[in-house]
Amino acid sequence: MSVIYNRVALIGLGLIASSMFWAIKRAGLAGEVTGYARSEATRDTARRIGLCDRVCDTAAEAVEGADLVVMCVPVGAMGQVAAEIAPFLAAGATVSDVGSVKAAVIQAVGPHLPDHVHFIPAHPLAGTEHSGPESGFATLFDNRWCLLVPVDGTDAAALDRLARFWRGMGANVDKMEADHHDLVLAVTSHAPHLIAYTMVGVADDLRRVTDSEVIKYSAAGFRDFTRIAASDPTMWRDVFLTNKDATLEILGRFTEELFALQRAIRTGDGDHLHAYFTRTRAIRRGIIEAGQDTDAPDFGRAKVGR
Ligand code: NAP
Repeated sequence: MSVIYNRVALIGLGLIASSMFWAIKRAGLAGEVTGYARSEATRDTARRIGLCDRVCDTAAEAVEGADLVVMCVPVGAMGQVAAEIAPFLAAGATVSDVGSVKAAVIQAVGPHLPDHVHFIPAHPLAGTEHSGPESGFATLFDNRWCLLVPVDGTDAAALDRLARFWRGMGANVDKMEADHHDLVLAVTSHAPHLIAYTMVGVADDLRRVTDSEVIKYSAAGFRDFTRIAASDPTMWRDVFLTNKDATLEILGRFTEELFALQRAIRTGDGDHLHAYFTRTRAIRRGIIEAGQDTDAPDFGRAKVGR
């Protein structure tokens, strides 16, 4: 793979940025990668582990001369970061992000950026429950989707270049409109996270009346919920605050289905339960056939490196 951008600046140095750095290096996609994080502790860690070719003490320094700038901070911080870097962006540079919500990021970031840059929001559909500069790994994006969300008047060449860059990091690339993205992600990611948070919260309440048996005897279903519910609190707070409408829409539907299942249990309607679980099993098969998961008993997690 050859160099696609001469200088890439990563703003925010957590799970996604550090995975991007290792994936960029693996494929030689950038001449130089600069990095910036707001805390000195994160910048020190980055320097210690060799994360980024050059870790800068200010965002301004990191973006100077960069032809790609990627904002890798929580969704709620995107607007403030955009305002901070805007005066220092090179003419013709592409500014992108990796936020899990798109309409709110476009609204928060767009107004700050100068006309002489290309703004192309993006969202890699890949992650783990870990965060911070030491949590990244080069293979995170392999065979995962990265959705590019072009805004009005996006330059075709800049879009194509960013798509090549994500493909170089191992991802499959698709384009999607922002509101549609937010609805799809509410179904596939945001609502499931909220449900996992709730289930673990309920178990935590219950733990007090069962002498910790919930933890001690935690079965696979509950363990999977706890993994999801261990995700970064700041990131997920911001996701729900900024993808409010779509999440509430999906949770409304979820509640209706839950009541229907509850009723089937109460009335002993086994046919309803069986038909429902047969339908959901087919979805799981579809995901495996699409190569987005493995049917190994532990979801293949043991094989995934960190
Ligand atoms: P992370 O590991 O928690 O890292 C977040 C980074 O953002 C840190 O470097 C942190 O700086 C910085 N930051 C936090 N709050 C900030 C603020 N108010 N102003 C400026 N910088 C701030 O997060 P991540 O998992 O990489 O997530 C980054 C973005 O990717 C988020 O928008 C998230 O929605 C999106 N995303 C996440 C996943 C996932 O599964 N984790 C998947 C796809 C997309 P310090 O270290 O100095 O505090």
